[in-house]
Amino acid sequence: MPRSYVHEARRRVGPKRARIVPIVERLAAEYPEATIALRFRNELELLVSVMLSAQTTDVNVNRVTERLFEKYKRPEDYLAVTQEELERDIFATGFFRQKARALRATMVMLLEEFGGRVPHSLEELVRLPGVARKTANVVAAELGDPQGIVVDTHVRRLSQRLGLTKQEDPVKIERDLQRLVPRERWGLFPHLLIWHGRRVCIARAPRCEDCAVNDLCPASRV
Ligand code: SF4
Repeated sequence: MPRSYVHEARRRVGPKRARIVPIVERLAAEYPEATIALRFRNELELLVSVMLSAQTTDVNVNRVTERLFEKYKRPEDYLAVTQEELERDIFATGFFRQKARALRATMVMLLEEFGGRVPHSLEELVRLPGVARKTANVVAAELGDPQGIVVDTHVRRLSQRLGLTKQEDPVKIERDLQRLVPRERWGLFPHLLIWHGRRVCIARAPRCEDCAVNDLCPASRV
């Protein structure tokens, strides 16, 4: 895209600081039901679901966890079976060897260092084996205490298209978003972008004509 066109588009929509609140509000009105698609009933199930969701779909994880959570209710249950048995039980989520290893190591740490409970702070969550910053952010947000902003492929694409960041690296994108998005919306914001990214601002062919924020978006084709 020619530079002059990009410049003109940015000028047309105005500064990101002025756009962020209307963007959040309009998307929140558009997707009042935007929330995490994983199914869980307690903090441990939340942590396990998010760990299993790496490199697969939430639908797939829900299919697996429906049975998994009937069998594994406490951290001890993940350690009471062999690695191979756990691998079989989570096989359909992919990367089952890595995930089973991470789950078992995480359960050991939960029992040894956290009294069998899931910690709430980001610093503690990222210490759990196999729990990267993104996983920790998702878990903390669902526990009602978002301490960062989850950046997945949709959040990254939409933040760039909406002119909220010029960065490529997820950690730098998160930093830009943290400076912009009101703190009380940190948990909701990624859900809004993910829902919008799946339905309207699709990767290959964004449906700008149907987009609720097209007048606030420098990448709008309308
Ligand atoms: S106007 Fe188009 S590019 Fe911008 S957010 Fe909407 S769908 Fe995406």
